[in-house]
Amino acid sequence: MKGDASSPQGGVGLANGNRRLVLGALVVVAVVAAVLVVRIAPPRLSDTPGSNARDFVSGAYPKLVVEVDWVDEGGTSYKPPPAVLAFLEQRIGERATKPGGVSVTFGNAIATTKSSFSADDLRALEGTHRSARTGGDTAAIWIVFANRYSEGGAGGSTVIGVAYAGSSAAIFVAPIRDAATFLVPAETIERIAAVHEVGHLFGLVNTGTPMVAPHEDAAHPGHSSNPDSVMYWQAEGTDLVSLIAGGRNPDNFDTADSADLRAIGGK
Ligand SMILES: [Zn+2]
Repeated sequence: MKGDASSPQGGVGLANGNRRLVLGALVVVAVVAAVLVVRIAPPRLSDTPGSNARDFVSGAYPKLVVEVDWVDEGGTSYKPPPAVLAFLEQRIGERATKPGGVSVTFGNAIATTKSSFSADDLRALEGTHRSARTGGDTAAIWIVFANRYSEGGAGGSTVIGVAYAGSSAAIFVAPIRDAATFLVPAETIERIAAVHEVGHLFGLVNTGTPMVAPHEDAAHPGHSSNPDSVMYWQAEGTDLVSLIAGGRNPDNFDTADSADLRAIGGK
């Protein structure tokens, strides 16, 4: 390759050619590195609950699917009743602009021996079992009905739901079943918990979706100050049972929540 060194011009020409080759190689390396960085970057860094609110609420994606998976722990199934899915579908359909439809459907059963899950455990479950992803004309949410949450200290055992990523939430059925009563059955609690966590994915309250009018509970950030809103803080714990027994029924977004959602393209 160095045989043309007898001609200075040729030598210069080769040198330029080499520079081009090196530059070309650098560009290829840079492009490959950029692609790798994009693929390796953990999505959750910019994937907090509320960060995808407009995808779910506005018509930017004309369809919305919610995939509901559930844990089966050693023969005990935490699969929710179909009525819970129907209720969630109704509530989302009342607020989200989705001319192509809202569909809340059963996905996968997840067999496990684990008795509780941390947020990291949930991310791992999701990575293995989630089927529906946002793309094309459809925005997608994943909800897993698991047994228990292992975080939150001693209070962890009373947590009935968590939204842990931009399109992902979990409902914890074991504490719900433990707290349920004849007058406040598990199905009622599961319905409210599911709508509450989807509300967080919608950016409520003041967690990604701006408030049109102030209605955040200063003592419980991210939640509504109205005990009749599904975004009230007690809709996320077993205290919900006493709230309902006391005459409240926080199973829907209130007028302040709805105004926030309309402002980002909802209805
Ligand atoms: Zn909450």
